[in-house]
Amino acid sequence: SSTMEESTGRSTKKKVVAVVGGGLVGALNACFFARRGFDVQLFEIREDIRRAKIVKGRSINLALSHRGRQALKHVGMEDKIVSQGIPMNARMIHSLSGKQSPIPYGKKGQYILSVDRANLNKQLLTEAEKYPNTKLNFDHKLQDWTAETGLMTFVRSDGSEEHIKADLIVGCDGAFSAIRKQFLRRSRFNYSQTYIPHGYMELTMPPINGEFAMKPNYLHIWPRNTFMMIALPNLDKTFTCTLFMPFEEFEKITTGDEVIQFFQRYFPDAIPLIGVDALKRDYFRLPGQAMVSVKCAPYHIGDKCVLMGDAAHAVVPFYGQGMNAGFEDCIVFDEIMEQFNEDFSNHHIFFPLCVHPGAVLPEYTRVRVPDDHAIADLAMYNYIEMRAHVNSRWFLFRKYVDNF
Ligand code: FAD
Repeated sequence: SSTMEESTGRSTKKKVVAVVGGGLVGALNACFFARRGFDVQLFEIREDIRRAKIVKGRSINLALSHRGRQALKHVGMEDKIVSQGIPMNARMIHSLSGKQSPIPYGKKGQYILSVDRANLNKQLLTEAEKYPNTKLNFDHKLQDWTAETGLMTFVRSDGSEEHIKADLIVGCDGAFSAIRKQFLRRSRFNYSQTYIPHGYMELTMPPINGEFAMKPNYLHIWPRNTFMMIALPNLDKTFTCTLFMPFEEFEKITTGDEVIQFFQRYFPDAIPLIGVDALKRDYFRLPGQAMVSVKCAPYHIGDKCVLMGDAAHAVVPFYGQGMNAGFEDCIVFDEIMEQFNEDFSNHHIFFPLCVHPGAVLPEYTRVRVPDDHAIADLAMYNYIEMRAHVNSRWFLFRKYVDNF
């Protein structure tokens, strides 16, 4: 085994921060730590997605809102990402008869943005790589780590193992976090995980005569109580439609004709826009995908490790805030580092009575857990709201300021 300083040949007085997971939150977080001059090592299980032909992710596009934008602004990325997003000023509710009614997200001029996940992830990796004190390590699967020493074991695709030590481990490895496994073995760690009965499936709505098939500056919603479909615009003038419904309903549909019958019954206006042949084919490409909600606390172990993003709080996607909350985690952690002068130690022997006796990690848990749990609850609430109430009068009178 080697320490990171040996393996990079760099000697620095700054701490080595290992960011595990190079998804949206990990890549952004690497920028935050790099700006502070830490020796940042990012480890990602996948190959470099900037060179991959197919990029797998949890969704094709997603809604970026104020929280997320603030975090991008901190690292100088806001304008670039916003310029590649498509503003959505309102929801567009599709009734069964095909009538479309907009419900604005906020005041005139306020909007959320539809952004391409793969592109956002690639740009964040490229940004992180610009810092000379950051190294991106792809094809590194975290297998295990030790809280006492900060020693991590990575496995490469050729089967070889690498043992690497860091001063601080930042677990950004998503909803099924391998970093979190060590937390689960410890006393007084609270953890809950809930799979909802619904799954999701993405379908593409192609352009018509080179133009968007529907009005582009909206988040289109077809609320049907038990079922729901949404559609977000992409820069290539397609829409990505996401169908949400209980797994048992997905499984009931077994032939192309049954797909069309189902759409005729619930989403008739979408059939000509997606296309009969495409629907019959694409419905069977992949099975419905599961959605999980994870809540846990604390988010840290000693002065060694902290969880952020989906690793700390996977939420159901109905509030459009998973990534946004994960991005906000990065700002909150950065502010606490500032406040505590980057003091990660647990021992405050010199200032036992100071107003903020905790160091960075316990303070992060204290500040962040209630907010992230609130987002998880709101998302679960909106799971019902979006498919059931979005077309009720009651909803129309509500002032909604957040996504979806
Ligand atoms: P991830 O994006 O999951 O990234 C984790 C990374 O860690 C991955 O790159 C993975 O390969 C890597 N990794 C995993 N295990 C290991 C390991 N052992 N070793 C090394 N690397 C590892 N959020 C929004 O804000 N707005 C939306 O509109 C929105 N829409 C969504 C729609 C759907 C259908 C879904 C499912 C989610 C949506 N979300 C949305 C939520 C959003 O996708 C997540 O919150 C976001 O991806 C979290 O980022 P992350 O970096 O924490 O995790």
